Amino acid sequence: MNIVVLAGGVGGAKLCHGIALSSGQEHLSVVVNTADDFELYGLHISPDLDTMMYTLAGIGNPQTGWGIAGDTFNNFDMLERYGVQPWFRIGDRDLATHLLRTQLIAEGMTLSAITQTLAQRLGVKARILPMTDDRVRTVVDTDEGLFAFQDYFVKLKWQPEVRSLIFEGAEEAHPTDAVLRAIEVADTIIIAPSNLYLSIDPILAVPGIKEMLLNAAAPIIAVTPIIAGESVKGPAAKLMRELGVECSAVAVAQHYADLLNGFVLDSRDAALEPRIAAMGIQTLVTDTLMTNLEARARLACEVLDFADRLRPEKLGGCCPDRLLPSS
Ligand code: GDP
Repeated sequence: MNIVVLAGGVGGAKLCHGIALSSGQEHLSVVVNTADDFELYGLHISPDLDTMMYTLAGIGNPQTGWGIAGDTFNNFDMLERYGVQPWFRIGDRDLATHLLRTQLIAEGMTLSAITQTLAQRLGVKARILPMTDDRVRTVVDTDEGLFAFQDYFVKLKWQPEVRSLIFEGAEEAHPTDAVLRAIEVADTIIIAPSNLYLSIDPILAVPGIKEMLLNAAAPIIAVTPIIAGESVKGPAAKLMRELGVECSAVAVAQHYADLLNGFVLDSRDAALEPRIAAMGIQTLVTDTLMTNLEARARLACEVLDFADRLRPEKLGGCCPDRLLPSS
């Protein structure tokens, strides 16, 4: 059973961890956003890849959602002694990841190969797949001007009002063969409860990925990142309001509508279910808030069961022959 998840950082990592806890990691491939990547002190930092890797390795920091549990910040103190005002906190152990990745990039290794190497060394069995090995960078167009993603997100704490998002380099980027192949052989495809504009849209902007998903044999299910009109974390809801979109699970389903067979919305939004069903999308209403490990595993199980129920329907819909006995 091949499971593919499209994900950003924290929300996606929690669901993938749930899948790992309930079904193991061996059959899990995660296509991860790399448009948040950036360079700092000459180091290549891939925040979403690292959040996914640390979480699946069981060493992530559950309090912050990023970084490594129990990490220290001595490098931060030293930078301050040098008079630098570090705006992006990197833990001492976390720093090792960035040092090694940067060295391996300089030696000519691809981001995919590096990610595989680092993840394997940490004992991760799932395949963590950068959406592309090419450079794609999110630029945020706001009422205060254009900002590189991390400047908007971390330095400015996502306060400027967003007008649009630009995925610089996306048009020229190529999906990796591993990403295309994973989607091709998937039995279940899940769009994680990640930020739809900042984490999932950059993945869909890489030419070839959306086409591959549209042609996928597997059912595609999205899990809402919006509960009761608010994000669980981060700027998803604020962005929806600023972009003039209704801030609700309905708008999330609408956003992905052409891809979806199924949509998982939260019990607190049960009243919205008929509007999503009216789009021709199957629905699952459940508690989607992953507050602890049990909740991660339970939601993952429910989403995978939901996919099992949708699979014959999708196969029947697109190619009825496949349901006929082979004789
Ligand atoms: P980021 O890259 O760290 O911003 O992480 P993501 O792209 O994964 O986005 C975080 C999104 O996940 C936000 O929109 C949150 O509302 C959503 N999210 C985080 N935790 C949960 C959760 O437990 N349940 C649900 N349904 N959504 C969540």
